[in-house]
This record gives sequence, structure tokens and C-alpha cells, in this order.
Amino acid sequence: MDEQTRCAHYHQLRDVIALKHYCCDTYYPCHLCHAELAEHPAQLWPAYKFDQPAVLCGVCRCELSVDEYRASSSCPHCQALFNPGCKLHENLYFDLSS
Ligand SMILES: [Zn+2]
Ligand SMILES: [Zn+2]
Ligand SMILES: [Zn+2]
Repeated sequence: MDEQTRCAHYHQLRDVIALKHYCCDTYYPCHLCHAELAEHPAQLWPAYKFDQPAVLCGVCRCELSVDEYRASSSCPHCQALFNPGCKLHENLYFDLSS
């Protein structure tokens, strides 16, 4: 991944975030990177941990909690816009069933 956390899978200008994976406490640009590089299945963030830092803004390097990320369409610190497409597969990272 490059300096702004873009990866080979989603490399549009607005893909500036990395997501920490609950299973390994490691930031990956996307779930596909995790699937390729991690040697275990991904685990979803449980809802009671949504106040923990889980999203990294690649522009200003600040960390957002799951709740903060889900409530914003841009970084609250540097105003970088998040890709709205990412929200379509947030269920790949966060357990939204409860
Ligand atoms: Zn993992
Ligand atoms: Zn990727
Ligand atoms: Zn930022």
C-alpha cells in the first residue's frame, strides 16, 4: 500500500482509509488485502467495541472509532472525503447484526 493507504484493489482517489482488523489488530487497506496477506479468516468487530479505534485516515494519520467512522462522510480532523463505496461493505469489517 502507498503512503495514503491505497491498495491494489481499491485505488480511487478517495480511498484514503485503512481498516484495523479485529482478528489481528493490524491495519489493512481493505478486506482483500487481509485475505491475501493474513493467514487466517477475518473476524468482524463486535458491536460493543465500536468505540475502539479501528479506522486510520491515510491523509492525516488519525484514528477513528467505528462509531466515528460510520457517522462521518469525511475525516473529522482533516476533512478528507471517505469513499462512500466503502460503506457498502462495512459489514465485512464490523458486526452490524446486533
Ligand atoms: Zn486478521
Ligand atoms: Zn486491498
Ligand atoms: Zn484525516
